[in-house]
Amino acid sequence: MPNVNLHLIARCYDLARKSYDEGGLPIGSVLARGAEVIGEGHNQRVQHGDPIAHGEMDCLRNAGRQPSYAGLTLYTSLSPCMMCAGTIVQFGIRHVVIAENTNFGGNEDFLRERGVRVDIVDDPRCTDLMARFIAEKPALWNEDIAAS
Ligand SMILES: [Zn+2]
Repeated sequence: MPNVNLHLIARCYDLARKSYDEGGLPIGSVLARGAEVIGEGHNQRVQHGDPIAHGEMDCLRNAGRQPSYAGLTLYTSLSPCMMCAGTIVQFGIRHVVIAENTNFGGNEDFLRERGVRVDIVDDPRCTDLMARFIAEKPALWNEDIAAS
């Protein structure tokens, strides 16, 4: 895929793994300009007790204010929820690279319909780690995606 940096997907996995090792949700995210990392983060719901601290939100917070997101790409280990997809659209991020949407997905068309380029790379390490977490801690997972 053009303009998709698999090293940054590997970085998302490492961030997801760090969160998993802390007892949190294994979802990591990187904001980049080409190969240059602008910011990175991972889900902090458990670690910070913060319900909106999804991986993408933590990454965007850590990246700080940006005059424009037009040339930036957001990488994430898991397909974005509607909160994060809405933030992507709100901020004018035009390219999102998703490691996997096997464990969660459904907002890809929402993004595409609003002009966001969405690439899905099907990274098996991210898929396996997320599946392992969901099997181990289903209640925490359901809380994260607000499933009842
Ligand atoms: Zn989210």
